[in-house]
Amino acid sequence: MKKLLVYLLCVCAIVTIGALTFDAVQTPAPVGAWPSGPNLTTPGPTGTTVPTVPTLAFEKYFIFTDKSAPAPDSWTIRLTPQEKQMFADQKAAGSYVENVLMPSLDDQVMWGSFYAESVWTTKLHGTKPVQMELQHTHDYDECINFIGSDPYNQADLGGTITIWLEDEKYTLTETSTIYIPRGMKHGPIYVDKIDRYWNSQIIGMAGQPWRNWEEEYGAVNWQEKESSTEGKYAKYIISMKPSGAAESGVVEAAGVPDAGNPGKHVFAMLNFLNGQAVPGHPEAFFFGSSWSMELQGGPHVKMEYESYHDFNEVLGLFGSDPYSTDLGAEMEAWIQGERYIMTESFLEWVPAGMKHNPQYTNYIDRPYRGFWAFNASAPRMAWEEPRN
Ligand SMILES: [Zn+2]
Repeated sequence: MKKLLVYLLCVCAIVTIGALTFDAVQTPAPVGAWPSGPNLTTPGPTGTTVPTVPTLAFEKYFIFTDKSAPAPDSWTIRLTPQEKQMFADQKAAGSYVENVLMPSLDDQVMWGSFYAESVWTTKLHGTKPVQMELQHTHDYDECINFIGSDPYNQADLGGTITIWLEDEKYTLTETSTIYIPRGMKHGPIYVDKIDRYWNSQIIGMAGQPWRNWEEEYGAVNWQEKESSTEGKYAKYIISMKPSGAAESGVVEAAGVPDAGNPGKHVFAMLNFLNGQAVPGHPEAFFFGSSWSMELQGGPHVKMEYESYHDFNEVLGLFGSDPYSTDLGAEMEAWIQGERYIMTESFLEWVPAGMKHNPQYTNYIDRPYRGFWAFNASAPRMAWEEPRN
């Protein structure tokens, strides 16, 4: 999936990434030498206590759009000749999809990380479904997420996608998380219709999205192919639970107890992947996502306690406008006792053992998306600050 999304970015040329370099993320910089991010020095809200921090040594763990995108050439060389041909043929026939890059991660961006790629899928050109994948397998677990962009109707994908899992075809019109255990054939994926842009997100438990096997382009006519109707792979597609279920789809008022900050952060939990989500797959890694809606009762709501754990984590917060990097909110994140303020879409990479949080939501101007992924199926804290 990654190769494809990136390729589309290149061919559609709706994102200008020519000026980006990869140096800053490949060569570890001395402490304090990382270039200042867009908004890492904003003062805290009036009345909050901001400790003096001599250096910002952990800034590199935050990834913004400009840090995460390698030069275009380094992405397109990942496409096989067959994939290049597939996209070229469709483009020549007038059918292609536009994507806008969001902050993304792999082990070239952050040493030791797994990959987590996100784009806004914004427009479909032409009259035919656009094929986004050749069927393939890999030897690591992956999850593919299609998340609608309407914060007030979170289950609505805003269009139609067709995905094949082994010999079965599934049609998606809702926000969906698809678990792909290692070795399972998946794809092709078609974008059939886009009414409203959505977020396409792929996370895999490998540093790079390499494939063990890929079908030969043109060998199968997928549009004509008969699908098995047994529904053997339906369990791999996780939808949002009906409204009212405890685990997702519910708009909740939350925050953790914090003396002096009575406000509430109203958010909606979307689909969850974890060791219980797919019958027979206790190894499935954790993925969860949300919409943050608004703050009630005051700014600066504490969302997490300081902690560390023995698994790796990626956290992402994304604004809802595909053509802007603005988060639409202000987030305060702490790493190893350092305070960072974020007002743009970002990823945070948290290697095992690194103290991170507390995390505060300082204000919300408009709803934004959040997600978390761990290389563990049942995450537990190794240490957490005492509750107040
Ligand atoms: Zn895949």
